[in-house]
Amino acid sequence: MVKILITEFINKYSLYKLKKVFKVHYDEELWKYPNKIIKIINDFDCLIVRNKTIVNKNLLHGANKIRLVGRLGVGLDNIDSKFCYSKKIRIQPATGMNADSVAEYVGTCSLSLIKNIFLFHEGTLKDNWPRTSFSSNELKGKNLGVIGYGTIGKKVSEYCSKIGLKILLYDKYLNKFKKKKNFHFTSLPFLLKNSDIISLHVPLNKGTKNLINKNSFIKMEKKPIIINTSRGSIINEKDLIDAYNKNLISGFALDVFENEPIQSKFLKKIKKNMNCILTPHISGVTYQSNLRVSNFIVDKVINFFN
Ligand code: NAD
Repeated sequence: MVKILITEFINKYSLYKLKKVFKVHYDEELWKYPNKIIKIINDFDCLIVRNKTIVNKNLLHGANKIRLVGRLGVGLDNIDSKFCYSKKIRIQPATGMNADSVAEYVGTCSLSLIKNIFLFHEGTLKDNWPRTSFSSNELKGKNLGVIGYGTIGKKVSEYCSKIGLKILLYDKYLNKFKKKKNFHFTSLPFLLKNSDIISLHVPLNKGTKNLINKNSFIKMEKKPIIINTSRGSIINEKDLIDAYNKNLISGFALDVFENEPIQSKFLKKIKKNMNCILTPHISGVTYQSNLRVSNFIVDKVINFFN
């Protein structure tokens, strides 16, 4: 019988469906103990992970039966894809299954930050009644610069155009783009110069690490809001805080960080009067997306082995 090892959280309904057809070993804390995984992995045909299990050579070295790695999410930076292919192990991400959740998150952050909602909230709590302390803005007609027009970038663009934003797009590898009203395909310098909000949707790799750095912030003429839901190291975090302190940008929302969980060294740089939102890598994680992601991977695993 096909044996499945699951080392991180999966929705209980999807798990039940999988258990009906295959033998499943499920331990959502197992990702913390790679040595325990290494000891048992040779017994399994399929490994299912989220983003915490580091699926590298070391982990897979003795995995002689594994034919499929299911990823409950997207972003394969915790999986050594090259090594998997060399061992003829297929990788199955849950492409697109959490894109709606990320799109809503980007829309929510855009609205909250452009309206200075958190600064008004903070001032009101302090009993300052800050009606005239900050100026608020409308989102309508502003430019959202979307870097990376893949699965998530497309959803974000569609959702945000519906709430009044004009979309500027940059994607290094896209050579065909169907013209759409209020969507403009541009170069990276043009996007940096003309965006009121910039949202990142590229994978983390050698070419995208530190993609947004101090040289990028200098080019931003509209003091934009920066939103990062992709991967932490794609923005240089030190340069981002410097850019905010120098008034080169007017706010930021970070869902992902160079080190997760967030490190106290970075947290110390965040002051209460900053127009910012920090969240613990949850933009793609909602009740609905969790269910979709788990069901999608379970269906793919069942089809693969049948
Ligand atoms: P995708 O592969 O579908 O799209 C990525 C796009 O980026 C592609 O169109 C590619 O051509 C483009 N690209 C690659 N390198 C580029 C570069 N140097 N400059 C410009 N464009 C470049 O990926 P996706 O599924 O849309 O995911 C996007 C990112 O979002 C990934 O980093 C993923 O890990 C992350 N993500 C985070 C969450 C979360 O909960 N925070 C959820 C889902 C996805």
